[in-house]
Amino acid sequence: MSASTSAIESVLVENRVFPPSEATVKAARISGIEGYNALCAEAEKDFEGFWSRLAKTNVVWNKPFTRTLDESNAPFYKWFDDGELNASANCLDKHIGTPTENKVAVIFEADDGKVTKTTYKELLARVSQFANALKADGIRKGDRVLVYMPMTLEGVIAMQACARIGATHSVVFGGFSAKALQERIIDAGAVAVITSNYQMRGGKELPLKSIVDEGIAMGGCESIKTVYVYQRTQTACNMVAGRDKTFDEALAGQSTDCAPVPVGAEHPLFILYTSGSTGKPKGVQHSTGGYLLWAKLTMDWTFDLKPEDVFWCTADIGWITGHTYVAYGPLAAGATQIIFEGVPTFPNAGRFWQMIERHKCTIFYTAPTAIRSLIKAAEADAAVHPDRSDLSSLRILGSVGEPINPEAWMWYYKNVGHEKCPIVDTFWQTETGGHMMSPMPGATPLVPGSCTLPLPGIMAAIVDESGNEMPNGSGGILVVKRPWPSMIRTIWNDPDRFKKSYFPDELKGYYLAGDGAVRSADRGYFRITGRIDDVLNVSGHRMGTMEIESALVAKSDLVAEAAVVGRPDDLTGEAICAFVVLKRSRPEGDEAKAIAKELRDWVAKEIGPIAKPKDIRFGENLPKTRSGKIMRRLLRSLAKGESITQDTSTLENPAILDQLGQAY
Ligand code: ATP
Ligand code: MG
Repeated sequence: MSASTSAIESVLVENRVFPPSEATVKAARISGIEGYNALCAEAEKDFEGFWSRLAKTNVVWNKPFTRTLDESNAPFYKWFDDGELNASANCLDKHIGTPTENKVAVIFEADDGKVTKTTYKELLARVSQFANALKADGIRKGDRVLVYMPMTLEGVIAMQACARIGATHSVVFGGFSAKALQERIIDAGAVAVITSNYQMRGGKELPLKSIVDEGIAMGGCESIKTVYVYQRTQTACNMVAGRDKTFDEALAGQSTDCAPVPVGAEHPLFILYTSGSTGKPKGVQHSTGGYLLWAKLTMDWTFDLKPEDVFWCTADIGWITGHTYVAYGPLAAGATQIIFEGVPTFPNAGRFWQMIERHKCTIFYTAPTAIRSLIKAAEADAAVHPDRSDLSSLRILGSVGEPINPEAWMWYYKNVGHEKCPIVDTFWQTETGGHMMSPMPGATPLVPGSCTLPLPGIMAAIVDESGNEMPNGSGGILVVKRPWPSMIRTIWNDPDRFKKSYFPDELKGYYLAGDGAVRSADRGYFRITGRIDDVLNVSGHRMGTMEIESALVAKSDLVAEAAVVGRPDDLTGEAICAFVVLKRSRPEGDEAKAIAKELRDWVAKEIGPIAKPKDIRFGENLPKTRSGKIMRRLLRSLAKGESITQDTSTLENPAILDQLGQAY
């Protein structure tokens, strides 16, 4: 932990408050702040009783649990551990014989716009058939299976089929390199890979299978016995005899009935490597029972899911958001969901809005990076503005992945939600399995840029470096004081790193999220200020990088996106370095100097002269992970003038680094 994590001064004050409308409160599952408070009070009063009640009513158990929480080997917590269940049965079988069985589970829209609809009953048959294919090749409970698939229904089927037979899946995002794939195959000890010949993104056919071949050829992947190849396109790909089979070959003759294999609640449902914004990716291991409980429950609580909703989470299944809110949560909750194969800018940057209209989407959940890029596109070209689409079906909007700047929040609220849709700004992590802090649409007054309050049962707090709780109005380190069911169980193969990373000795056994946050003095609302390593200390003043970024983006006629990092400075301790993407083309020379001055003056006015960036650098984009997150650790090196020697395996756009060398 860095030394700069004590009190952070909050310099930006947000005064806008948007309470839920009376009608929303009335119709909501959790109604009014009283409804929220009642659940919190229940969790405070009888923590285990609270979780036990919810686990009994939201999960179908093959064998009921008798122990709710086992803390005897903390921080290796166990939840519901003598209970048995199957995750796939909880997503599919449980709907059979109910009105949901013939409901559309998935509306799939392909990159080229082709739409297919699959009911729960049909999905169960397809998952079962694929599960039988895996079984026929000797894949068993506890085996690890790597999934390297396009964002398709087949990707979800692959995950569900693994879960059905108790195999632990590890999904690797389809944009990752052969090297990243090889490392994950080795680390997980996978016995099979499920992949596709190609994937379609933005009208382009991109290879997947050849990358698998390349990764395996790098060595150390002898554990792989079978590679399943989904034929997404007609183009042929290399097939290795005796190892590779097409989906058609694997499925031939397999029954569409497959009894789900009950597993213990603590059985690892999946391993997912984190996105790598801050360091080498970690294999985050999740459980079955606790994970599934929270996936289902947060669908109900955070999204206020109703039977008639059409839910759309735009995240890829390669990320935790695509696990919890595509592959598991919506199915466990019996929702109709949209799965979209393509990219938001193809065939034009109005695609999301057009799809909301086409499928009458009611709940739309996306990332700030997408919102910011679509704002830029809409302002440049009226033809792709959300106004061009009928978005009246929407009732709830969501945001995930990064802090959303108040400016972007307001745009989303006005232009997409037409000031009638609550925005749930959901703070969580790969490690947390599901939402940790978020408004509840019918309960929580919204404040732009704030994830508001912890969900009931999540004991989040802000502490100083010794784990002492900080009063409202100040900032510090975000922790969770008590375990929760969907939490990370360990880092695969590395329990020591798990303990050190998330439960450091100084913090009284609290879970360390790695993010800094402030709580507002009036409401106790949380606002994430950035990773704890991202707190700046300029001449003794502590500032979250996020606040300076928000100030820059608030200059909305000019700035599309901004990232701020610190670099050592003899005079001020740390100097602020801002990386800026403009709404216009990237400036150079005198023009860049003039714009840099304008931005400095602006920040001085918005926050104070102390927050003025010393360096401003312009790029056409920022270095991002493939999940769209800004890679601040690279920016820190650039700011220091260091050459980049770090792990860049998850970097989306390496070319951008060259542009960012010039400071103004
Ligand atoms: P790595 O752990 O490998 O560095 P990562 O932290 O980016 O990668 P994720 O688990 O996908 O990987 O992201 C979780 C992080 O994303 C959080 O710790 C937080 O910094 C940020 N985040 C997610 N949602 C929000 C949100 N609503 N508001 C603010 N920050 C968020
Ligand atoms: Mg992280």
